[in-house]
Amino acid sequence: MDLSIIIPIFNEEANIPALYKRLRSVIDSMNGQTELIFVNDGSRDQSLLLVRELAEHDQRVRYIDFSRNFGQQNAVAAGLNLSTGLAAVIIDADLQDPPELIPELHRKMQEGYEVVYAKRRRRAGESIFKRITSKLFYRAMAKLTNISIPLDTGDFRIISYKVVDALRQMPEHNRFLRGQISWIGYRQTAIEFDRAERAGGQTAWTYRMMLRLAIDCLTAYSEVPLKVATVSGFFVSGIAFLVMMYAFWSRFFDNSYLPGWTSLMVSILFLGGVQLIAIGIIGEYISRIGANVRHRPLYIISDTNIPTAQPQNPTP
Ligand code: UDP
Ligand code: MG
Repeated sequence: MDLSIIIPIFNEEANIPALYKRLRSVIDSMNGQTELIFVNDGSRDQSLLLVRELAEHDQRVRYIDFSRNFGQQNAVAAGLNLSTGLAAVIIDADLQDPPELIPELHRKMQEGYEVVYAKRRRRAGESIFKRITSKLFYRAMAKLTNISIPLDTGDFRIISYKVVDALRQMPEHNRFLRGQISWIGYRQTAIEFDRAERAGGQTAWTYRMMLRLAIDCLTAYSEVPLKVATVSGFFVSGIAFLVMMYAFWSRFFDNSYLPGWTSLMVSILFLGGVQLIAIGIIGEYISRIGANVRHRPLYIISDTNIPTAQPQNPTP
């Protein structure tokens, strides 16, 4: 197998026919053997049905059906785990990532790169708020983490089997693929493209989910928040010490100690707030440690037509 194309699917019935058509004409124009791996991440619409139909007519189509929604990052992980290609492309199903870019990504890879990611020059049809938070996210992560995640790049990219192999050795939960790939290393490069609008359907990514992903990235690749908690702890303790000296001084030398309610309240509330923030930050890290030590699988497959991966509960 030369190329595996991995497509996470969550409620994409509106896009699958057009996506398949465009993907097919792209892979028909390339030489080499290609497989299309559709990972149905617990869609509640007709997506799975559509993909099954495609698989009946085109043996290059593989599907993996999850028992429920496990999230896009886990869907991609499943696709990569079961892929057999010398290279793998990760692409969104909503046609925001143009399939026509795949030959170019593939060509660039032949120049001796293990990873070629597609960098968004422009993004159409997304709210100003999303564009601004996304820009901020990439810049903040560049400052806060100790890996270099390329700016303005989604998961749309081609990676070689070496990188796929390395990813298979990273069984971590709360995955952040962009971070993992950057952490793995090798020669990586980018090509630019203009990101289109979503072809049909709606985005499943709420701001809450994006915030989760951002915190996953931060906790997995940065100790800065923990350091902030420590440093602010010292800082606030320092101020508290000065205030304490002042309190003693006014008690024993100044004798003006009676009215003190305001300062008392302020310092109690302030200290309480700082402590809660620090505990919260530590909690975010600990909950992720918890998720990882439970050693649960990243996903459960309920059905697939990939022979090497039979479902956990095969029907007798
Ligand atoms: N997706 C998924 N599981 C989810 C949410 C999304 O597999 O829980 C898929 C979705 O079908 C699409 C890709 O992930 O192929 C990107 O999702 P979306 O277009 O909603 O994200 P956006 O482009 O708005 O960031
Ligand atoms: Mg999209």
